[in-house]
Amino acid sequence: MSRVLLKDVRPYGEGEPVDVLVDGEVIAEIGTELEVDADEIVHAGGAVLLPGFVDLHTHLREPGREDAETVETGSMAAALGGYTAVFAMANTDPVADNAVVVEHVWRRGREIGLVDVHPVGAVTVGLKGEKLAELGTMARSAAGVRVFSDDGHCVHDPLIMRRALEYTSSFGGVVAQHAEEPRLTVGAQAHEGANAARLGLAGWPAPAEEAIVARDCLLAGHTGGALHICHVSTAGTAEILRWWKSRDAAGRVSAEVTPHHLLLTDDRLDTYDPVNKVNPPLRTEADVLALRRALADGTVDCVATDHAPHAAQDKDCEWSAARPGMLGLQTALGVVVHTMVRTGLLDWRGVARVMSERPAEIAGLADQGRPVAAGEPANLVLVDPDAEWTVRAAELASLGQNSPFDGMRLPGRVVATLLRGRLTAHEGKVRR
Ligand SMILES: [Zn+2]
Repeated sequence: MSRVLLKDVRPYGEGEPVDVLVDGEVIAEIGTELEVDADEIVHAGGAVLLPGFVDLHTHLREPGREDAETVETGSMAAALGGYTAVFAMANTDPVADNAVVVEHVWRRGREIGLVDVHPVGAVTVGLKGEKLAELGTMARSAAGVRVFSDDGHCVHDPLIMRRALEYTSSFGGVVAQHAEEPRLTVGAQAHEGANAARLGLAGWPAPAEEAIVARDCLLAGHTGGALHICHVSTAGTAEILRWWKSRDAAGRVSAEVTPHHLLLTDDRLDTYDPVNKVNPPLRTEADVLALRRALADGTVDCVATDHAPHAAQDKDCEWSAARPGMLGLQTALGVVVHTMVRTGLLDWRGVARVMSERPAEIAGLADQGRPVAAGEPANLVLVDPDAEWTVRAAELASLGQNSPFDGMRLPGRVVATLLRGRLTAHEGKVRR
């Protein structure tokens, strides 16, 4: 059992700096000027100490597209980004719609040991939207799957969605919906608005998302199932969620927003650079501002990256042929600090809530998103709130380099990440 002493840290960025002793897998003691033997001392200089981040929405691409990302490289990016748990989406090849594939991903995560990798199970066989996958078998597998999603595709058939909500509620699972009415987005390439019209790109209209969100809130209320809305991208969706959560039946609907939808708009499309192509698409300034407000007031529960690495040949091509998706794990904190903390919308307690506590609660993780307090599991991230850094896509740990934040200066740097008391990242380097 190793002991790590964190010197001069400020839990939640509050109060005078304290020392935190991590002994084995737990926080043993918090106090001032602790004089103890430790195997490693981290001099933090007043950095902010938070519970480790939890990402409900990550694409690790293994199995099938190990040229874009692997469980190993994705785990490295996660540790460097301050994450102690990630949920790996099911749209791999083969699809994670059975116990064999989810156990493979879960086991690879354990072997690498940098972050808890929780596989997401597909809702339907092959993500085809036609027949429920074996949700119970995946739940009972070694991977203990609790989150189910056809992400990349919408569970568009309302009867299938109803059955998925009913069935997962019997074992405490949650259905994470990629809300996109497919009949309204055939051939869509960009947010349906002035920019898409000017650039000649087929539109992805906001109601394609909003109609599914409204429908699924109603189905969740009717069935008592737990519904999580992936990557909320429009002001209208935030309004629907606000309305739904104001009703009594509210508690079982949650939602996430991505860092890119908190910062970027479709004004970036002028260059036709496919690094800006993502699904749902970048939208308008009004949507961005509405999503920030919704995250601040809890209408949207949490931040999730939708980290979506792609091989170069799938991004360095013409817009219509490029795959949608952006890197997110190593830049999420910086974008959240830039858009939410520096703007006064969230304090560091708020950051802990949206990046750690709420996602852990939504997914039912007992040992993540816990308070920074003695006796609690030492899943932690240490953040220098004042440091600014320039994103260099080529230097990120992911195999793909499709970061829309390349070259941008972001505030808030991860100093260290601890998973069950062990340093997994320190000063920008992965610790194995
Ligand atoms: Zn999606």
